[in-house]
Amino acid sequence: MRVGIGTDVHPIEPGRECHVAGLFWPGVHGCAGHSDGDVAAHALCDALLSAAGLGDLGAVFGTGRPEWSGASGTALLAEVRRLLGDAGWEVGNAAVQVIGNDPKIGKRRAEAERALSEAAGGPVAVSGTTTDGLGLTGRGEGRAAVATALLTPRAGEA
Ligand code: MG
Repeated sequence: MRVGIGTDVHPIEPGRECHVAGLFWPGVHGCAGHSDGDVAAHALCDALLSAAGLGDLGAVFGTGRPEWSGASGTALLAEVRRLLGDAGWEVGNAAVQVIGNDPKIGKRRAEAERALSEAAGGPVAVSGTTTDGLGLTGRGEGRAAVATALLTPRAGEA
C-alpha cells in the first residue's frame, strides 16, 4: 500500500462560479484560475499522484498537455484514476478537507463524497473547517484544501 498527500490554494474571485468537491455551489464566490478552481479535487489529485509516485498536477497536466487546461476538477480526477490504473494501483480510500469560510461542506457532504468517489474510483471522505477568521482563508481572500490518499495494488497485481 502507498499513502500520499496533497494541498491546494486558490484566490477567491467575487462573481465567479464556485466549484468545490465536484459540486457547483450557487451563491458562493468561486476561485480564480485557469480551471474551475476546485481546491478539493486538485488536492485529491495531488494526494493520489504522490501516493503512486507519479509526480504532481503540474507535472501531469502542465504545459505538455494543453488540452487539459481549463478542465474541471472531476475530469482531472478521473484522468488521474486512469493513470493510477495504468500504473497498477487503485484507490483504497482518500480524505479531503476544505479550509475556508464557505461553502459549508456539511450541508452537502453526502453529495460531495458521491461526486468525488465516483471520479476517483474509490471512497473519498469530505470534511470542512474554517480558520476562525485568521489568515488568507479566514479573511475570505482564498480557499484551501488538504488531502490524503491510500492506494492498493490493483486486483490481480498484488
Ligand atoms: Mg488548483
